[in-house]
Amino acid sequence: MKVGVAKETAAGERRVALVPEALGKLTAAGLEILVETGAGTASAFPDAAYQEAGATIVDTAGLYGGADVVLKVAKPSPEEATRLRSGQAVVGFLQPLIDPGLARTLADRGVTAISLDAIPRTLSRAQTMDALSSQANVGGYKAVLIAANAYPRYFPLLTTAAGTAKPANVLILGIGVAGLQAIGTAKRLGAIVHAYDVRPETREQAESLGAKFVKLKTTIDATGAGGYARELTPEERAAQQAELNEVIGGMDVVITTAQVPGRKPPVLVTAEAVGKMKPGSVLVDMAASALGGNVELSQVGETTNTPNGVTIIAPDNLPASMPAGASAFYARNISALLLGMVKDGALHLDFEDEVTKSTVISHGGAILSDAVRKLLEPAPPAAGGAA
Ligand code: NAD
Repeated sequence: MKVGVAKETAAGERRVALVPEALGKLTAAGLEILVETGAGTASAFPDAAYQEAGATIVDTAGLYGGADVVLKVAKPSPEEATRLRSGQAVVGFLQPLIDPGLARTLADRGVTAISLDAIPRTLSRAQTMDALSSQANVGGYKAVLIAANAYPRYFPLLTTAAGTAKPANVLILGIGVAGLQAIGTAKRLGAIVHAYDVRPETREQAESLGAKFVKLKTTIDATGAGGYARELTPEERAAQQAELNEVIGGMDVVITTAQVPGRKPPVLVTAEAVGKMKPGSVLVDMAASALGGNVELSQVGETTNTPNGVTIIAPDNLPASMPAGASAFYARNISALLLGMVKDGALHLDFEDEVTKSTVISHGGAILSDAVRKLLEPAPPAAGGAA
């Protein structure tokens, strides 16, 4: 079976699905690796490094024409989707719940679509395949570095002959994978770290990394399914907001990471809260996307300077800003997923297996994911409409 590593084409996407050091395990399993020319250049892996690791370098037509399985990071662009053909498989962050139309296109073309963002995250066997976690980890680390770079003072307490610098107060909102990495990184830079989440079990996790957990008077337990948070009720949101506004006003740096699966990220930092922050304070909104973010004033992909001197940064693809490190983790995740689906050197899909069942979105011309099929159903006619 031929496994192809495609060159990413999305704007700003510098990662690559496989790095040279990950090739050995795949070739040992009898797989032949094709790499699209220049696929690893933006993440500091030249074609020669893949060749030395046993891959064949091919052009775009050779990659899509020759590979049985195409490995990607970002979902295929409309043009890439038209290059994929019946019987071929594509693996990557396909985002079927955000872009169900792509799943439809791939199913119609007879492509087997395997989505890394659908890995069952609570299954311990799937931890090595959990690319959402590995990339969130990179994001949490980079968010702190970006904040420290934009912050006009020191993060650590520093005593020098020229005086003493006070340590920065850093608040991390959302203590999932990215938030925990952000706590650890800000702590290592010497900041006083505070953290808050609506899932009570995160308190111990944050404290074990040296953060002070922000305890609001309003008790909210928003633990949802699969370890994720549920959406707050409007009353909970209002109570949380009023208290958080006060806390945010006293912080020098706030990094937000809060997500609720399948929903628009909750707004945690309102324009009013930003108005209470001191000049020079920095906000990094990791949840910002086209859907919106955790910071009311953030603009995805932009840095905004407010009239009261606060810098709001809303990066749109943090893992891509550390492409070699992020790709190395991603390569291990995608290799583990692929190898779990290979038998005797060929793709063998066992739909009794929980990972296969969750991640294979389309196969044999059909959409297999119930959630995606539901999103594609035509909307029911509006009640009370003309017969
Ligand atoms: P996520 O990206 O979905 O959300 C980030 C954090 O935001 C979560 O901790 C969530 O509780 C928090 N949040 C949501 N709404 C909020 C609000 N209104 N106010 C404050 N915080 C809010 O989370 P994630 O990083 O993908 O992790 C989700 C869960 O999956 C966690 O429980 C994590 O430990 C778990 N997980 C488990 C495994 C595993 O067992 N293998 C691997 C990865 C993640």
